[in-house]
Amino acid sequence: MRKVVKDLKNIPASLVSQEAIDSLQNIIDTRNNDLIKSDIYRGKYLKANGSKGDEVVEKLAKIYHGKCAYCEERTLIYIEHYRPKGRVQKAKHSGYFWLCYEWTNLLPTCHECNKIGGGKADQFPVSNKHLTYDDCLTNQQIDSVKIKATYLNSKEAPFLLHPEIDEPKDFLAFEIDANKNGVSMIGIDGIGGRGDKTISICNLNRQPLLLNRLNYINDYVNTKIKKLFAKLSKGSIPKETFREEMKELFQELDSHKTDEKRTFTLLRWFVMESADNFHKLAISSLPKNEQEVALAFFKAYKNGTL
Ligand SMILES: [Zn+2]
Repeated sequence: MRKVVKDLKNIPASLVSQEAIDSLQNIIDTRNNDLIKSDIYRGKYLKANGSKGDEVVEKLAKIYHGKCAYCEERTLIYIEHYRPKGRVQKAKHSGYFWLCYEWTNLLPTCHECNKIGGGKADQFPVSNKHLTYDDCLTNQQIDSVKIKATYLNSKEAPFLLHPEIDEPKDFLAFEIDANKNGVSMIGIDGIGGRGDKTISICNLNRQPLLLNRLNYINDYVNTKIKKLFAKLSKGSIPKETFREEMKELFQELDSHKTDEKRTFTLLRWFVMESADNFHKLAISSLPKNEQEVALAFFKAYKNGTL
C-alpha cells in the first residue's frame, strides 16, 4: 500500500449523473441494496468506436498506475467499496448503501485482496461505532461532507487503512519470513493496531505475495550485489569500479522507491530507509564479510560520502 492522491474534484461523470442521483434515491427509498448498479459505479460508457468502456475503472487505473490499492501488485482492476455497500461482516449494519456511488469510497483492487473468503469482501471493523445513513444527513438531506471518507474515518476510526487518507509508512513494515520463505508485512502501530488489522483484512501475507516481495529483493537487490562481489573477488573489476557500481545501484534503488508505476513501492522505500532495514532484508543472505562491506558502503551512501 502506498499513499495516493486522488483528485476529488475530477469525479467520473457516471457517479454524478442524473441516473446515479435517481438510482441512489431509489435505493434510499426502498432500502434495497440489490438496486445498486455496477454500471454506474464502474462508469460504463460507449466509446466513439462503439466499444464499451468503464470510466471509473479507467480513472482509478490511471491514478493507481494499474495497481491494487492494498497489495500494490499490478492487476486487472476490480472496483472495491472501501465501506462495504451491501452489508458489514460481524456488525448489525445495513451496509453503506448511500456510499455506493461515492468517489472517495471507491478504490481499485485485485481479486485476491477483495475476494469473499480470504480477502476483504464486506469486512469493515471500526474502533468507534459504524455510522448509519441517518448519521450522514443534515436537515433530512445527504450532507456532501458527511459522505466523504475523510469525515467518516474521523468519526468511525476504522481499522482498515485508506490509501488516500492514511500514510501507510506509519503503520506497515517488512521482515524476512524464514518459515514461509518470503517477505512478510508487519504492523508497527501495536498488536491488533491498524497495520495488523489491515494485513489480516486484505490477507496481505498470502504466500504468493510473500514470494513476489522476496523476488523483488532477490532480483533487484541481492543478485546485483552478489554479482558485484563475484566480479570483485575474481579481480575482474578494480575496487574503485566496485564502489562506483555500488553507488549506482543505491541511486537506482532510491529512484525506484519514488516511482509510483512500480510494484511494491512501500517495500522499496522500506529497504532503503535505514541501514538496519537494508541489512535485514537485502543482504542478510550474503557471507558475513560481504554483509559488512555492503553495509559499510550503504552507510557511506546514506551519509553522502560514497
Ligand atoms: Zn491486491
